[in-house]
Amino acid sequence: MPARKAFAGRLRTVRTGAITVVALASCASAWLWAQRQGAATNSATSPTTSPAAAWRAPEPAGASQRVAERERMVQEQIAHPRDGRPAVVDPVVLQAMCTVPRHAFVPREFQAHAYADSPLPIGYGQTISQPYIVALMTEQLRLRPGDKVLEIGTGSGYQAAVLAQLSPEVYSVEIIRALAAQAKQTLEQQGYGQVHCRSGDGYYGWPEQAPFDAIIVTCAAGHLPPPLWEQLKPGGRILVPIGGVYEVQRLVVITKTADGHRRSISLMPVSFVPMRGQIERR
Ligand code: SAH
Repeated sequence: MPARKAFAGRLRTVRTGAITVVALASCASAWLWAQRQGAATNSATSPTTSPAAAWRAPEPAGASQRVAERERMVQEQIAHPRDGRPAVVDPVVLQAMCTVPRHAFVPREFQAHAYADSPLPIGYGQTISQPYIVALMTEQLRLRPGDKVLEIGTGSGYQAAVLAQLSPEVYSVEIIRALAAQAKQTLEQQGYGQVHCRSGDGYYGWPEQAPFDAIIVTCAAGHLPPPLWEQLKPGGRILVPIGGVYEVQRLVVITKTADGHRRSISLMPVSFVPMRGQIERR
């Protein structure tokens, strides 16, 4: 049975702030899924077909492995954490976290810990983020069907794979060439060949593919690189950890309003590896 279906029936309570909504999450999930696929059904009969129209979320190669561990990870760490951190409630994000085989993205020696509530080393002094943070950041991006999303800091490729469950148009930039190559290979092996990866300094974004509906930065920056702001569409959102290595960093949501103004909201203290490259020379 696909992991997507195995999970759907078990997610029964969804917390929304102070309100607990008891939802037949299989229905909620199916409804959201249908919303995302809706464009496909509608435009299949129309003469113009967008990339989103023909798109179906991938079923990764490792989806049938370690399913119970992933379900437990999602339930205990993400959907119903007991330590007071805010729950992630979007059923589509929870489904994505349940589908992507995190163990396939971590080095062999750490695979036994792939579903633990923590970041893990991926080599070159870098880490794959804690599953909860991946889920929270993905939810905060508020992706809609067909949204084009840019990630800065591909690392293992895990966050990119989670995004690829939600959007057909994922672009990811990694500054360490060997990590970029490794991530690309893992993504392809898992069936995420549609994710566009490149090696380079993410400070400059990906100008040839701009503008983006959403941008996620998975390394900590002292300030938001101006090119990323320029490459964000009006109405779009950027998730970025702001702060230095030895400071308390804050996970910040930056929104570009329809008339181009900037709004920032600080979500929570976080700890990310630092952004390298051009930002260090500023
Ligand atoms: N999202 C990753 C975790 C990334 S850790 C995952 O899911 O595994 C942060 C990554 O940002 C590291 O791989 C680091 O090499 C990369 N990084 C740091 N500075 C960067 C820059 N200027 N441009 C692109 N990537 C950068």
